[in-house]
Formats: sequence, structure tokens, C-alpha cells
Amino acid sequence: MSELLTAGAAELATRIASGQVSSREVTQAHLDRIDAVDGDVRAFLHVDGERALAAADVIDAKRSAGEELGPLAGVPIAVKDIFCTKGVPTTAGSRILEGWRPPYDATVTRRVQDAGLVILGKTNLDEFAMGSSTENSGYFTTHNPWDLERIPGGSGGGSAAALAAFEVPLALGTDTGGSIRQPASVTGTVGVKPTYGGTSRYGVIAMASSLDQPGPCGRTVLDTALLHQVIAGWDPMDSTSIDAPVPDVVAAARRADVRGMKLGVVKELGGEGYAPGVEQCFREALAALEDAGAEIVEVSCPNFGYALGAYYLIMPSEVSSNLARFDAMRYGLRVGDDGSAGAEEVMARTRGTGFGAEVKRRIIIGTYALSSGYYDAYYGSAQKARTLIARDFEAAFETVDVLVSPSTPSTAFRIGERSDDPLAMYAADLCTIPSNMAGNASGSFPCGLAPEDGLPVGFQVMAPVLADDRVYRVGAALERELAGRWGGLLTDQLWARENGGAL
Ligand code: GLN
Repeated sequence: MSELLTAGAAELATRIASGQVSSREVTQAHLDRIDAVDGDVRAFLHVDGERALAAADVIDAKRSAGEELGPLAGVPIAVKDIFCTKGVPTTAGSRILEGWRPPYDATVTRRVQDAGLVILGKTNLDEFAMGSSTENSGYFTTHNPWDLERIPGGSGGGSAAALAAFEVPLALGTDTGGSIRQPASVTGTVGVKPTYGGTSRYGVIAMASSLDQPGPCGRTVLDTALLHQVIAGWDPMDSTSIDAPVPDVVAAARRADVRGMKLGVVKELGGEGYAPGVEQCFREALAALEDAGAEIVEVSCPNFGYALGAYYLIMPSEVSSNLARFDAMRYGLRVGDDGSAGAEEVMARTRGTGFGAEVKRRIIIGTYALSSGYYDAYYGSAQKARTLIARDFEAAFETVDVLVSPSTPSTAFRIGERSDDPLAMYAADLCTIPSNMAGNASGSFPCGLAPEDGLPVGFQVMAPVLADDRVYRVGAALERELAGRWGGLLTDQLWARENGGAL
């Protein structure tokens, strides 16, 4: 049975398609696993076993009837609870949406179901995807399977933890400032933020619309690429969706070859403030890629230093506008509607009760940044910084094929360690934010365990807009090189350790 948990999505799909195992058996094995470990990990906000098994049965029936199945048909998947799923509770990690069941599916979750993947449930996140640890969830904190006292990253910590705990082989995330890549980094899993416009935002509860991007998460590069291919591509329901062919990310993941590629190490993303083990694993990964035939050079992106500051103006500005829709009238929670209170009063009571502290902080910052008299000084300057960051990328990509850096400056910190210090929390996004600002493709790949704490470190690969395939090509080459040295994936080491009793 445990073999079904460790096999990975590509392998499971092959076995299901050939009839060696049914989707029902695979689905049941993962549901049992969730039953066994999720009390400790707490990755899921909502699990729907019956619905999942019914979806699995549909795939098994199609196979028996000789119908052609897609490349991931019958494989279980977890969905970050920021995607609308028709008829299934969707909270965005907020109490304000408790009990809400969307009347429609997000394009991405629709595509996943059309491709025959089996949705097991919805995963935990920081409220409205605002955070780096899941501690801002309105429900509970998710724990990192590598060390249950530690955070699994955020905002998509639930999806990443579910993967690392072998509760599911694939998951969906969204990345506004790093919420796919930072959780991947601290859980030893793979996560990719596609080119902005490469995956549809339709039906994704909006945080900051000019930055939000859905993306795939997995334990292997190929699994992640297969999911990328299922979800990507033009969608008329999203006005920022790009009407261009999806780069062949699956071929790139299979190719796993960096010979002749030039990798630029971003000078500004490293050094002071980075954990020694993060630096060390990153350097070792560079050496491995060099052995595999890549050329490594150093590149300066001087304006990346503005990214964090500009992000924490642009993002809250968009948040303050997007979250105005939670007005106690349209969805979810309504507080204090006692017959005597007016609409404005009910709205104030509902928002006061339903939103957590971090969400309120960002709404206040954003409203201030957009207010008349301050707009140019704050929002206007941040937009200029954004342009400069995009120009740094363009200039760099004239000389290198991809840029690389650690995914985040530290390994998983302890639960509670940064809760009272928003700035320390925001520092987790230092390396990931530039790609959101410029809209280019970017992914995080496991590159080792930091010697000082034995926790996973992530390697970030940033590629030009619409060159998502390069992210996978480098990630897969790294995976292959390191698997040769480690005798498998980083998560295999966790599995081996877990059988010794960690979870
Ligand atoms: N940690 C970042 C933030 O708190 C990233 C959020 C995200 O990508 N959704 O804003």
C-alpha cells in the first residue's frame, strides 16, 4: 500500500492506465494516509472522501470501457482553498467565508477535473493568501512534516505539507509573492509559478490581481510539469490570460539537460541575512549543475533591492480594493444583523469580526497608499520600481538563459517565531517577489538539507516571460544530478526517516 503513496503522479497514472491498479485503490490509499497523519500535519481544511472515490470510479469505468485517458487521469490532487470549487466549501482561509460554497469552478480546478484528476480536498493557507507560514489562517496552523514544530511555509503551506507528508502526489497553489515557491522550498518539494497570464485566475479568490498566479506543486519535476500542462493555457474568462501556445514544459522536464545553458547567479540575492546552510546547499547545487554542463556566471540586478518595499505597497493597494467585496451582503459571514443595525453597521461588524489581523493590516496600508495626496508618493513610486525590476530581468536575459538564487533566505522557522514581527515574516519573500513583479516564470526545487538544522533548502530558477520550459529543464537537471548523489529525492529521505517514527 505504501508503495502507492511514494510512487509519484506520473508513475501512478501509468499504472492506472494499464490497469495494474485502479484509481479507487490509489485514492483510498491516500485518504487512509490523510486519516493517519493529518491530525498531526493539519494540511487539509476540508476532505471529501466520498466525492473523491466517486470521481475515481468514473475514471476506472472509463478505463474499463477502453476510453483514452489523459496523462494524469485517476491521480489524486489537493487544491489550495483559494480556488473556487463548485458546491465544495471554499474559505480562502478566512472566517469571513466560512460555510460558503461557490456556485462555479475556477478554470484551473475545472481543467484538473476534466483531465480526470481526483480532488481529495482543500488545503490550508494564510488568510486570503497573506503570509509565509499558514499561521495567519483563520482556522489553524499547518505543521511541517520535516519537523512538526516548524512552519510549512505560506501561504500555500497546506498544499506543500500535504505533498511532503505523502498525503497526495500533486497539489495546486497560487503565487502572489512566493506562496508556491517558499512553501516548496521549506518542505523539500517542487513548486512553479508560471508566467503571469500563463494560467487562468478565473475563480481564484483575488488577493493582488496584477501579481496572483496559479501554479502546480509536486514532489518531482516531471509530475509538476505534467500538472502545469493540464492547467495552463488561454482562458477567455481571464482578461490577463495570454493567448499563446504553452511552452512544452513536459518535454523540458524529460530532457533534464543543462548542457550549453548559461545560469546567472543573482548577486543581490544572497550573502548577509541568508542562513549558512541555505548558502551552502545553493553553492553545492550550482556545482552540481556545472558538472552537468551548465555555465555559471554572476549577474547583478541592482533594482531587486526595491522589490520587497514596492511589493508591500502594490499588493496591499490591490488587496484593499479586492477585499471590499466581502461586505456581509454577498457571501459567507454576516455579523450583528439584528434588525436595528443599518447595512453599513452590519458591514463594519462583519469585517471587524471576520478578517484576521494581517488582513486588516494590509487593507489599512493599501487604503492609505491609495489615498489622495499619497497615491503618487507610494503607489506611483512602487509602480516605477516595478518597471525597473522588469528591466533588470530583461537586461539579464540578454546574457543568460535563466537566473538562479536560493528560494528563500532561511529554512523553516519555528511556529510562533515570527508571528509578532511582520517585517521578519515579509523577509521570507525576498527572493521570490521579483518574479511576481516582472511576471516571469519561476520555480523552486529541493537542493539539500541545511547542515545546521537538517531542514530542506530550495533552489530558485527564474526564466523569461513565456519561457517556463527553461525552469523545468534546469529543475529536472538539478533533480537528476542530486538524486544521483542522494540515491533519490529529498522527500524519499523524509519517508525513510518517517518509517523510523517521525510522523
Ligand atoms: N508571503 C507573501 C505575502 O505574505 C506571499 C503571498 C502570496 O504569494 N500569496 O504576501
